[in-house]
Amino acid sequence: MGNRERWILERLVPEGSSGQKRDSRLWERLVPGGSTGKKRDSRLLELLYPRRCPVCGDVAWPKGALACPECRRKLAFIEEPTCKRCGREISAPEMEFCRDCASRKRSLDGAVALLHYDAAARRSIAGFKYGGRPEYADFYAEELARRYGRQLLRWRPQAIVPVPADRRRQRVRGYNQAQVLAERLGAALHLPVLPQALIRRRHTLAQKELGPAARQKNLEQAIEIYRYPPGLARVLLADDIYTTGSTAEACARALKKAGLRQVYGVWVCVAGAD
Ligand SMILES: [Zn+2]
Ligand SMILES: [Zn+2]
Repeated sequence: MGNRERWILERLVPEGSSGQKRDSRLWERLVPGGSTGKKRDSRLLELLYPRRCPVCGDVAWPKGALACPECRRKLAFIEEPTCKRCGREISAPEMEFCRDCASRKRSLDGAVALLHYDAAARRSIAGFKYGGRPEYADFYAEELARRYGRQLLRWRPQAIVPVPADRRRQRVRGYNQAQVLAERLGAALHLPVLPQALIRRRHTLAQKELGPAARQKNLEQAIEIYRYPPGLARVLLADDIYTTGSTAEACARALKKAGLRQVYGVWVCVAGAD
């Protein structure tokens, strides 16, 4: 249950005790004789927040769909051939890597991406990130798992690590969108999520004002490995968007410096063409 849902529950049942008991009391009040467990929780959430389509932003139709079928067709899904490192679509099938990955040192061992970062994807991600729509992650995770589930599991990741958010920005937003994505994807692929494996130590300088080298250094100083189980060797790094690759690179470097052997990426969107 997210912070927003918990906040609502606390105000709906102020005298209630915590956790399960309070939830079930509220549930009894809303839907007498309601079913139990996860199904009940999702029905409760559906009642409080009818699911929104990640493309049009309206209530998704038909009821229970993660996105309107019409809207799904408006999305530009990434197709093969793709870069073996970052997951970006490449124009020449004989190439292994995109121009970007071929021209500099990259620490990622592979990646997959769902969408081109076009106008429709940009709107969707804006809603997910700033518009208080963490539920869009259900759609992204389901599509990623459906298209790439087998490939992702073939990499034998032991866990999913979300790209850490700047704490100040996360506080304003209420959640780290990469973590929400990681959790949904973890549920779909039955993989644990390590939300504290990487942290962003301090507010970084405005990246936009820096050149590529300074940008990389700035990020690498900020992203640190923090809490992870011993023996961790292979992870999936999850983020909503892959643009220049500098954030993913900083994360992959930090993980590998800590002894991880393989770091793979999974992104909702990739910006920029090959
Ligand atoms: Zn729609
Ligand atoms: Zn690439």
